[in-house]
Amino acid sequence: MEVKTVILRHALENALGHNGKAMLQPVVNRLLGERPELRKDIKNIINTIKETIEYVNSLTIEEQQKLAKELGIELVEREKREEKKELPPLPYAEKFQRIVTRFAPNPDFVLHLGSARPAILSYAYARKYNGKFILRFEDTDPRTKTPILQAYELIKEDLKWLGIKWDEEYIQSQRLEIYYNYAKQLIEKGHAYVCTCPPTKIREYRVKGIGDECAKLPVESQLERWEKMLTGEYDEGEAVLRIKTDIKYPDPSVRDWIAFRIIDTEKYPHPLTGSKYNV
Ligand SMILES: [Zn+2]
Repeated sequence: MEVKTVILRHALENALGHNGKAMLQPVVNRLLGERPELRKDIKNIINTIKETIEYVNSLTIEEQQKLAKELGIELVEREKREEKKELPPLPYAEKFQRIVTRFAPNPDFVLHLGSARPAILSYAYARKYNGKFILRFEDTDPRTKTPILQAYELIKEDLKWLGIKWDEEYIQSQRLEIYYNYAKQLIEKGHAYVCTCPPTKIREYRVKGIGDECAKLPVESQLERWEKMLTGEYDEGEAVLRIKTDIKYPDPSVRDWIAFRIIDTEKYPHPLTGSKYNV
């Protein structure tokens, strides 16, 4: 095909995909995508491209469609592009009976673009699959991510403004006892342990992929230590509950990851639960 025809074809395709108005850059990109050898001649053909676009844009959409037909341009491509505006399917979605998504903001700030995006996407996917969308406030760190009382309501207002409806709502700080209960079960089953090593040692062992000695203590001692964590016998940073994982796992940061820490809530009270919990 003659270069001029190829240019015309791309200009028409682009125009028909954008309400009859073709744009220079996408046309050039598509042209060079199809005919990379033209790259070295681009200086010579750029004016032809510009003129072609001008010509195409001066036509009505009906005229553009007619011309496209004459050139044998499949308008299917345009429809395909429109379809792509839908969400791509989730991998393995068919393997699950129900798709449940969640948005889990920390109420230490109002929503911003970076948090609105996952909220919208999670909500849209739940709707796409007729699933469930959960709003969960992750507000269990009053020390470094101190929740702000007003933020809980502000976040909900913003989500409503975005047209998002959630099926269930949870506030993690109100559910600590449930989590403690599961933590205890994990310890009893040997899947979690209380580690009293200093953070530097935890880090070093993780990076080297060495197992922690605390993990070797019997379940009874673990439960004793866990009880001591809950009753406040350890200070901040003196003990953590860790989940047993593959200590050679490729990402060191998840090797025996920390599920519970101690926070001095006398010093850093929680806006909802005050100093009631320290783990
Ligand atoms: Zn340890």
